[in-house]
Amino acid sequence: EEQLQHQAYHDPLTGLPNRLLCNDRLEQALKNAARLEQSVAVLFLDLDRFKHINDSMGHPLGDQLLISVADRLNSAVRHADTVSRLGGDEFIIILQSIEGPQTPAMIAKKVQDALAQPIMLSAQEIVITTSIGISLYPEHGENAETLIKNADAAMYQAKRKGRSTYAFYTPDLTLSSSEWLDLESTLRRAISREELYLEYQPQIDLNSGEMLGAEALLRWHHPERGRISPAKFIPLAEETGLILDIGHWVLEQSCRQIREWLQQGYQPPRIAVNVSSIQISRGDILGSVLQALKKYDLPASSIELEITENCIVEHTEQSKRVLQALQDHGINLAIDDFGTGYSSLAYLKQLPINKLKIDRSLIADIHRDRNDEAIARAVIMLGELLELDIVAEGIENSEQQHFILKHGCHIAQGFLFSRPVSADQLIGMLPGGPHLKEHA
Ligand code: C2E
Ligand code: MG
Ligand code: MG
Repeated sequence: EEQLQHQAYHDPLTGLPNRLLCNDRLEQALKNAARLEQSVAVLFLDLDRFKHINDSMGHPLGDQLLISVADRLNSAVRHADTVSRLGGDEFIIILQSIEGPQTPAMIAKKVQDALAQPIMLSAQEIVITTSIGISLYPEHGENAETLIKNADAAMYQAKRKGRSTYAFYTPDLTLSSSEWLDLESTLRRAISREELYLEYQPQIDLNSGEMLGAEALLRWHHPERGRISPAKFIPLAEETGLILDIGHWVLEQSCRQIREWLQQGYQPPRIAVNVSSIQISRGDILGSVLQALKKYDLPASSIELEITENCIVEHTEQSKRVLQALQDHGINLAIDDFGTGYSSLAYLKQLPINKLKIDRSLIADIHRDRNDEAIARAVIMLGELLELDIVAEGIENSEQQHFILKHGCHIAQGFLFSRPVSADQLIGMLPGGPHLKEHA
């Protein structure tokens, strides 16, 4: 009877509690927490690219991998905590009687570090990463069902942020699936209905005050919801593949604008265009770029492409070929959000890159966080040694400006100089036009 009982509540492969027992334990933890006025955290884990490993290495090895993962998860948490497997590559960890969000964040980090150690499977080293979503009782839900659902939503958010990360639940993730569908179909029509437009944010040479370039930033004016942030709709566009059409539109639109400026007699700065990893892995980015340049009769030096760090780490061989082809055609390439991905420094040397853009999260806390300061300085030095241009993003105050200048970075972008502005406003900032500060 005991054995049957055990089977009903445990996963046969890993021996971990199954979904049923996970639910029971969570209900129990919530009851205790309510009585003692304590917090509970639910961590929802999903292994990154497990399906790929499982398909390519065979299911018996996939099973072994899951068993190793289960062991590591158990060693990373306290005895009182519950590690359970929901099925497939999904796990849930319940943390009882915690003090605040620091504990689950720390455990999430610890779990990710533990899993990041290579696992030996039939003489092959496998490195597995995981995305984790976190929900907290009582802030993010009163019952087990809601907390698990919200941790799951946060996990998807972590995946969108580029995998191998964790994310806390936030209420604006609660777009219901019908709202997502609605957003998807309106996004599909956004191009033809001319709801998309670009703003431009200058990049400034701090020594001369000159505008060296400007970044094109996509905007969506939704007919009912008003302005929707690209941070929200770009991930949606990537998931649905719409990013291929949208990305092409952004390139064309940027080139069209440059041509218009030239016709008006201006000397426009080089325009940096953001490119999604999907455009590199699945689209014909080279064709798209060449077509847009040709259509508006522009030299390759009129634009620059910004590619995020994760995109390069993820598809090395394929992206290397594409990036090389772009550079062979004279297109400048910048790595965006540098310092946030899991950087293998080796790729920096192998890839045809001209520029590093230091992520604004590193800049934001340089005066409060010594680690961020050290990383920002190291990135600047790294760029110098590899003879790359370095741009600091998100410069909001003069302390940050002085910091980067002092450490050898003299190109900056940020609200201190100007927010993203319309095409007319940008061109007005060129010599002879109104002063930069007016738009900050
Ligand atoms: P990003 O490429 O890193 O762009 C910089 C973001 O930082 C912009 O946010 C900009 O408005 C913001 N920013 C600039 N200066 C400051 C500052 O001083 N302080 C703060 N707090 N923020 C600053 P935005 O426009 O919301 O864009 C967010 C992200 O959306 C971009 O990050 C980029 O990854 C993506 N994105 C925007 N346009 C496109 C596009 O055309 N294609 C693709 N694939 N992605 C795009
Ligand atoms: Mg960018
Ligand atoms: Mg950036």
